[in-house]
Amino acid sequence: MTRQVDHEIVIIGSGFSGIGMGIALRRARRDFVILEKAQEIGGTWRDNRYPGCACDVPSHLYSFSFEPNPYWSRAYATADEIQDYLLYCVEKYQLRDRVQFDTAVQEARYDEGLGIWHLAVGSSDGTMRTITAGSVVLGVGALHDPVLPDIPGLEHFRGELMHTASWDPAATVFGKRVGVIGTGCSGVQVIPPLAEDAAHLTVFQRTPVWVLPKIDPEYPDPLVDAYEKHPALMKAHRAKIKVANELRAVAFTQQPVMLKLASRLALQHLRRAVKDPELRDKLTPEYTMGCKRITMSNTYFPALAREDVTVATDAIVEGDATGLTTADGVHHDLDVLVLATGFDVAGSYRHLNIHGAHGHDLTADWDAGIESYLGVTVPHYPNLFVLLGPNTGLGHTSVLLMIEAQVDLITQLLDERDRRGTSVVTVRPSVVPGFTAEVARRSAKTVWKAGGCNSWYLDEDGSNRVLWPATVIEYEHRVRHPEMVDYEFSGAI
Ligand code: NAP
Repeated sequence: MTRQVDHEIVIIGSGFSGIGMGIALRRARRDFVILEKAQEIGGTWRDNRYPGCACDVPSHLYSFSFEPNPYWSRAYATADEIQDYLLYCVEKYQLRDRVQFDTAVQEARYDEGLGIWHLAVGSSDGTMRTITAGSVVLGVGALHDPVLPDIPGLEHFRGELMHTASWDPAATVFGKRVGVIGTGCSGVQVIPPLAEDAAHLTVFQRTPVWVLPKIDPEYPDPLVDAYEKHPALMKAHRAKIKVANELRAVAFTQQPVMLKLASRLALQHLRRAVKDPELRDKLTPEYTMGCKRITMSNTYFPALAREDVTVATDAIVEGDATGLTTADGVHHDLDVLVLATGFDVAGSYRHLNIHGAHGHDLTADWDAGIESYLGVTVPHYPNLFVLLGPNTGLGHTSVLLMIEAQVDLITQLLDERDRRGTSVVTVRPSVVPGFTAEVARRSAKTVWKAGGCNSWYLDEDGSNRVLWPATVIEYEHRVRHPEMVDYEFSGAI
């Protein structure tokens, strides 16, 4: 393969997925390159630099199992600390020289005659070139394409406009009138620090969010020392978190009634922080907890209860040069507007313009709903693999568990392809409808579908195309023991 192509394998993206894949390929002594559109590695943790950005999955589980980190400073790491961890992994596993920065994939086209992929890539200076590869691994994730709200007149806003995923690190809100649209995970994290610094903060809330207390202790030095000296202790801690989180999967997918207790805790949390009954009403969700991603914060409700913070719940009808007008006719004067409005999940692969075999086009194929086999392979796209693809996102625990399981599956498929003396592996088209039907059946009773909310977990038809509707342990078992009959191996080397 290396005789005919620039690289045996091209990985697109250098977040946790791309780095995890790169480490596995380096260990397997395969030839690969990582294409990264930005100037640094890190994906989500490089891009999301808004104040308060952190991960709501405990750090000891939000890290590679093979690279435990005794030095996490607290239970839930900040974005900076996670990015430092990724940078450390890149150095330790000598991946930096495998990354081509400022290299954005604009098209990936499978060449049936040669059995290889042609990738058209562009740099920020406008130059274009082609890279050829035997296999392609998509590590771009689903949460990178910011959604900008469709508000008439917003384009006339003359203040500073920032999405949480493209934060200007030099920006300051000190003494300014700030607005935040959105109260999802990002909104809950960014609102408290903005409330501290702004002269006045207006939170534009369309749907209230469930917020649990955050038990986020700093790790004392003796514990860090103990983890450093006795890695088995750290592993036991990680295993405990993993099992505890798996119980949430059972609650989300089979027994939403289990969420009642947690809902009570969240309402108590709200009552303690917000004394004003009118504000409390505004902040009380009507949908079942877990239908949208549950958030955790000890500072969100106190921030909203401040006298210099307004929670506006009337719909935003219009933007203009100086702010936003809501349906109650109030004009909110703003110097800064922060969009915590989430990401375009369905379109997250569109920009790659992927063309497979027999005239297949991924954008067209996924127009009626994104689907794949186990989130990793797609029929008619030979030697193409997806990390955190359709229905392998998680709302209950660490996505790193899925990434590692998928990296393992891809490695097994590549090894099996080579062992058979073939050059191409593709999932059989016949297995995908069964998998899609299984996901739909198992999603039917989940809180995501039955919980009475709209979320990015569901597509326009109300189908779950994002989340894995079971435990991670089950997924790990399935992909670590793949049925090779589900795949076609073809082509001479
Ligand atoms: P999100 O969950 O999609 O939330 C977007 C928010 O913006 C919602 O409150 C939404 O209201 C609101 N919104 C969107 N368009 C609007 C409009 N036109 N007018 C008014 N409100 C509007 O996005 P996110 O908070 O960025 O989170 C996305 C995902 O990123 C999360 O689910 C999670 O997977 C990940 N994330 C993870 C962490 C972490 O700690 N691990 C932190 C941040 C993000 P509605 O609810 O009414 O739609």
